[in-house]
Amino acid sequence: MTSSGKSVGDGSYVRGLVEVADGVHAYLQPDGTWGWSNAGLVVGDGEAALIDTLFDLPLTRQMLDDMAPLTTPSPIRNVVNTHANGDHCYGNQLAAGPGVDFVASAATADEFDDVPAATLGAMVAGFTDGDLGAFVQSAFGPFDFSGIDVPEATVTFTGRHELDAGGRTVELIEVGPAHTAGDVIAWMPSERVLFGGDILFIGGTPIMWAGPVGNWIKACDLIVELDPEVIVPGHGPLTDLDGVRGVRDYLAMVQEMTIAAHAAGASPKDAARDIDLHINGTRFAGWTDRERIWVTVHAIWRELEPGFEPPDVVALFSLMADDFARRRG
Ligand SMILES: [Zn+2]
Repeated sequence: MTSSGKSVGDGSYVRGLVEVADGVHAYLQPDGTWGWSNAGLVVGDGEAALIDTLFDLPLTRQMLDDMAPLTTPSPIRNVVNTHANGDHCYGNQLAAGPGVDFVASAATADEFDDVPAATLGAMVAGFTDGDLGAFVQSAFGPFDFSGIDVPEATVTFTGRHELDAGGRTVELIEVGPAHTAGDVIAWMPSERVLFGGDILFIGGTPIMWAGPVGNWIKACDLIVELDPEVIVPGHGPLTDLDGVRGVRDYLAMVQEMTIAAHAAGASPKDAARDIDLHINGTRFAGWTDRERIWVTVHAIWRELEPGFEPPDVVALFSLMADDFARRRG
């Protein structure tokens, strides 16, 4: 609710800033598929906190320009990253300045260098043909990976960290490892607004790089317990607790079916294919980016079978590309 008592925005999902509570804003990027992430801005008394940046410098520059009427009187003093995936931190350097802190969980701070922007740039330049090329271009082709140099985090924490944004409290709660090693959600108890980072993909299929999946399910349960009025996901439109329950149910279903496939002696590839077929008959069938099931099933397999070595990232992208091509073809 805004101070005038209207419901949040007009329920539409359009690019740009939307005030979700008095002085609390989401920055949305439809359609929420690969790389099209959301961010947040908390404007306090004389200073603001930015929650996540975007996948490249031009997109982040545009976002900061759109925020300028709010951040000129209340400059960004803290930049929080919910996790280390590039679509949430590659724009960080544009918010740097004297007295600006970069705040992340210690595990996220450690992961910032794991996938440099140059690696994604090389993938876009190098994979142009065939199914893998079509997939890589679709996922990453729209972005500009040049000139990116993510600054080191200046404030790191484990567990919980309370951030003051000009008199407004933002509770940072580490819920990872789940989607990545160091996932954090940002909770504003007075405003009852929650920024979920990539614990919440709304209308799109979650992808689990790290796990364990039980942590991710617990994170969804925690969000339901906090009972926010407004929820800003890492990808997709603003949502409510039903959106959170959808993510939880998807993960619980994939977990359960992967455990059953493992117990029956199937391979992870067979499991991913069968679960995907099963999804055709469920409420998740309309979610975008269904090829991500391949990464999630392999990550759960690692939990079930000590010593199991999942395919490397390029091999995982090839599996997703085959799936993507099948779905299109
Ligand atoms: Zn993301």
